[in-house]
Amino acid sequence: MPSILIRKGRVIDPVSGRDEEADLLIEEGRILTIGRDLAAKADETIDATGLIISPGLIDPHVHLREPGQEHKETILTGSRAAVAGGFTTVCCMPNTSPTLDSPEIVRFVYDQARRAECRVFPVAAGTIGRKGEKMAEIRLLARAGAVGISDDGDVIASAGVMKSVLTATAAAGLAFMQHCQEPTLTQNAAMHAGGISTRLGLPGWPRIAEEIIIERDVRLVGETHCRYHVQHLSCAGSVDIVEAARDRGLPVTAEVSPHHLLLTDEACLGYDTSAKMNPPLRETSDLEALRRGVAEGVITVLATDHAPHTADEKSLPFSEAPFGIIGLETALAGYARALIEPGHIDWPRLIELLTINPARLCNLDREHVGENGLGELREGGIADVTLIDPVREWTVSESDLAGQSRNTPFLDWTFHARPVMTIVGGVVRMSRIEVGV
Ligand SMILES: [Zn+2]
Repeated sequence: MPSILIRKGRVIDPVSGRDEEADLLIEEGRILTIGRDLAAKADETIDATGLIISPGLIDPHVHLREPGQEHKETILTGSRAAVAGGFTTVCCMPNTSPTLDSPEIVRFVYDQARRAECRVFPVAAGTIGRKGEKMAEIRLLARAGAVGISDDGDVIASAGVMKSVLTATAAAGLAFMQHCQEPTLTQNAAMHAGGISTRLGLPGWPRIAEEIIIERDVRLVGETHCRYHVQHLSCAGSVDIVEAARDRGLPVTAEVSPHHLLLTDEACLGYDTSAKMNPPLRETSDLEALRRGVAEGVITVLATDHAPHTADEKSLPFSEAPFGIIGLETALAGYARALIEPGHIDWPRLIELLTINPARLCNLDREHVGENGLGELREGGIADVTLIDPVREWTVSESDLAGQSRNTPFLDWTFHARPVMTIVGGVVRMSRIEVGV
């Protein structure tokens, strides 16, 4: 494995609080030294002047479609999209076919992940088949390597089942990640319930369908003390509920996705299925509340909800097309557009939300896995590193996308930040810059 010396970048490590110009030397998959003007030689030298040197980005919420829907994405193709987007680690959701609800399938994901370009960790289902009825063997799933529990794609609607799942998830030392959607309030719903759904004649999805589940779950968390994580927040009221729970000291965290920070339900005009998401795009007041939620420290994790679908599926009429968009390759640029450019947060904070915070959520940090912990840059630590050009202008084009599917509303958008190198375990997996030898 060639050694790598990265010179003169802005090293940002939220765990140690480091934010300074420095060099970083990588040998044998580990970070050997971080310091100014290192008198070191390496097989490859990278001039990182003007670039940010960040811990490898971690996405705790992606759909890799394997097993069962390999025509949309596989663990391998999803990992290509991940490293193209600067991610060194992704956590994949259990709504596969078969469902990720048994230790055998957890191990299958790890087996497939050995060929992947980045690290892939499975989040396993809380109930068998994600049906919300019979609890899965959560203890065994955790022992097989599940890094979180979720029925994502669906909510656990029964409060009784949810309480049992939270109790078992807490005992296993994991966090539960909830897809918050009260199903009786969203039957046939295709988009946010508002003026535009009325105009388009599409059944609407009210905000309260999300809020009511978070309200209920916060009460269950008060009883079970399970770490509880709200997936893909979409509305202003949800931010308030999460804030109140955190103020009470409950172990509640929340994530937001790039599209909810950048788009509103107006993107659905013209029946554009690339704007059909679950939860749906809402209104400007929600988008602003979500950005404020990040700025004020209520939302502490960012996640793409990368959801590949084929062009054929997305060409169906709006009401029949599947929910979701891909997100890994445009995520960092989108977060910079939504959060940094308007001045809500700075780069060190953004990197914290993309590295150590998701690592802690999924037990991938040093506290949980000792010296192999992810999410930080430290001497002796694993060399998962992302180089970011904070001012690189680029336009999203279909031919540029490395994953298998193309369903994104951000085609032809011009952004002003981009990951330019992804290093996983000391190996360069993606590069958009010159490497000197
Ligand atoms: Zn979901």
